[in-house]
Amino acid sequence: MRVGYAVDENALNRSYKQAVVGAIDFWNNQSVGSYDANYTYVSNASEAQILIQFVNKITYCDGYDNSTVGCAPVLEKDDVALAQTVRVEDRYAMESTQDIIIHELGHTRGLVHEDSNEVPVMNETIGTLLIPETNLENRSYGWQTTDFRVYFDTAGTVSSVEEDTYRQEIREGWQYWTKDTDHLEKDVSFRFVDSREEANIVVKMRDHEGVRWEYWVFNTDSDDSFEVYQNATLYVGERNPEYIDYNTATALGYLLLNAENETELPEPFDGDDELGDTDRWTD
Ligand SMILES: [Zn+2]
Repeated sequence: MRVGYAVDENALNRSYKQAVVGAIDFWNNQSVGSYDANYTYVSNASEAQILIQFVNKITYCDGYDNSTVGCAPVLEKDDVALAQTVRVEDRYAMESTQDIIIHELGHTRGLVHEDSNEVPVMNETIGTLLIPETNLENRSYGWQTTDFRVYFDTAGTVSSVEEDTYRQEIREGWQYWTKDTDHLEKDVSFRFVDSREEANIVVKMRDHEGVRWEYWVFNTDSDDSFEVYQNATLYVGERNPEYIDYNTATALGYLLLNAENETELPEPFDGDDELGDTDRWTD
C-alpha cells in the first residue's frame, strides 16, 4: 500500500531530513506490522497520510508522561487513509532522532511496545542523545543570558555605613563591561537584586589580596563537557574601596570573555604593566 508522508515545515526549526529518510528506508524494507507500506514522499503536506511533526516538548502521549520523546497513534490499515500525525521532539542528535521516528512509525504500522522482541526498536524506552552543543572551552561568550543580577552579600564583612560606598564601587566595576564601552561583543546589563536566589552573580568581600572567583556550570547536552556558566561568586579582596571596582571588573572580565588568562583581557587587565603596579585603575 502506498503511504504518502510529509514533514510539517511549520514546526521544523532544524533539518532532520537525514533522520526522516533513514527511518523511511528502515520501514520500506520491512514487512512487520498490520500492513505493508510503501512510503512515498509528498511535497504537499495536506496530501500526506503520515505527517511527521517536530516539536519542542511532548508532555503527554497516551498514558506516557514528560519523558516521552515521540508520540504516534497505533494504526490498523484502514486508519491510514485518514491523515495521521507523528510527533517527534526536536532536541536530539540525528541518529537518536532517526531511532525515535522509526519507533513512532512502527506504531503507525500497528506495532506496540510488546512487539519489541521481534522488532527491538519498538522497546518502550530507547537510548537518546541530545544535540551536541559547543563546549564552554570553545565559546567566546559562555553565558545563556546577558542579564546579570548581582547580589552583594555583606553579611559579616561590610557595615551598613560602608555598604553604599562599596555598592557604588561594584557598580563602577561592572560598568566597564556594559554597552557604553566597547570591550564585549554582547550587550550585557547588570543590576543589584535583594536576594541570593535571584542572583547569577554574588559579590562578597574577603581579606585576601586581589580577587578570586568560583563559578558553577551546566552540561546541556549528552557529552562529558560543560557548555555554559550558571552563576558565579566573586570574592573581592583588599578592603580598600579604591580597588573594589578594579577587582570586580577583573573577575567579570574573565567570566564574560571566558578568558583562560590575562592576555585575553583588554587593558588594564591584560597584565601589561605600562600603568605600573600601584597605579592601577582607581578613582
Ligand atoms: Zn512507543
